[in-house]
Amino acid sequence: MGEMDYKCLRNEDSEVYELVAKEGNRQLTQINLIPSENICSEAVMESTGSILTNKYAEGYANKRYYQGNEFVDKVELLAIERAKKLFGAEHVNVQPNSGSPANMAVYFGLLEYGDKIMALNLMHGGHLTHGCKVNFSGKLYNFIEYGVEEDGFLDMDKIREIALKEKPKLIVCGFTAYPRKINFKKFAEIAREVEAYSMADISHIAGLIASGVHENPIPYFDVVTTTTHKTLRGPRSAIIMCKESLGKKIDKAVFPGLQGGPHEHVIAAKAVAFKEAMSDEFKVYSKQVVKNAKVLADSLMSEGISLVSNGTDNHLILIDLIKSLGAKGLGRDVAIALEETGIITNCNTIPFDPSTPFRPSGIRIGTPFVTTMGMKEQEMKKIGQLMALVIKNYQDDEVKAKVGKEVKEIFSCGLDSNVFKA
Ligand SMILES: *Cc1c(COP(=O)(O)O)cnc(C)c1O
Repeated sequence: MGEMDYKCLRNEDSEVYELVAKEGNRQLTQINLIPSENICSEAVMESTGSILTNKYAEGYANKRYYQGNEFVDKVELLAIERAKKLFGAEHVNVQPNSGSPANMAVYFGLLEYGDKIMALNLMHGGHLTHGCKVNFSGKLYNFIEYGVEEDGFLDMDKIREIALKEKPKLIVCGFTAYPRKINFKKFAEIAREVEAYSMADISHIAGLIASGVHENPIPYFDVVTTTTHKTLRGPRSAIIMCKESLGKKIDKAVFPGLQGGPHEHVIAAKAVAFKEAMSDEFKVYSKQVVKNAKVLADSLMSEGISLVSNGTDNHLILIDLIKSLGAKGLGRDVAIALEETGIITNCNTIPFDPSTPFRPSGIRIGTPFVTTMGMKEQEMKKIGQLMALVIKNYQDDEVKAKVGKEVKEIFSCGLDSNVFKA
């Protein structure tokens, strides 16, 4: 896939090579609407595949526990400097290996076990690490939840009331399945009012924030965490940004609190991604991500498909299958039907879902991946029509076969992508 030819892998281990090649082909020939996925650049992949993987560098730049860090220190400092510039952050830790451990480090650094954290109900769009009962977060901390309203939007006055009553130590916003803009300023104000720490987990929308398409929470919040592989289009990883005054606590929580040696090859890839995200091309890309999501949402709705909150402000759309089909728990069946036609989505709970997380009543989709592929409004409109057809006829093999053919045609038109070269 791409311009990487995996020559050594092919010669040495044909079993793994075959699987990588097949996955590459799958990524190129299906319509991937998973909102948390993207296609990173070849420069990012070369960095994650670089010799930096050979180096141990426990500690922080100029304070390592091993020698030989002359160049690795420079890589890590460059990543920090670029992240600070990109987001306007005071302090950045680029060592977390992924989004979940980044959030764990924040809780570990700022709180005691059993402390009260206020976060969005998971069924309404919160993340696993925001208090799921089977996750470390739900087991070690006392989570209090807020939810969205019947219309799918957050009501900031109600959230303030809960905060005043519960007096949490930390208030978390930033979500996994919320299609609307977040009132960051108000969240931070509420946290200040109740003397809680404020944290925004911008994993999903970091790219939209970096490019100025969505508001930047950094000025308001004590801590902002983000993954780097979603809308930000970097390597699979994460960073923590915070106020200077909390820097020591956060750094100590990451190392030695939770991790050993940092993955310097991935840190290099993060530095590359931050540089890419500062470019004009990335701003154009981010705007197109949101434009595409709006067109896709409108296309679905005009075909009679209901969406949570009736639309989207970001890269993500949540389809309400109860309102669309009049039955609960069909998310998995519909997602499988869509996959049969070459459209990849994920089933998801919707707010007030009467079904279970394993058989949820919604489908979550998004546009970061297909936008990187070069798809625009025209393709979005078509995909919305095809999806609606499958949703309404998810058990009809004839319809699925017909849609499958049309999905292939979308690719045969030739896409104008400058990131992903087949
Ligand atoms: C994706 C995501 C994470 C976790 O990221 P992983 O890298 O999968 O651990 C954390 N928080 C939010 C809001 C996310 O969307």
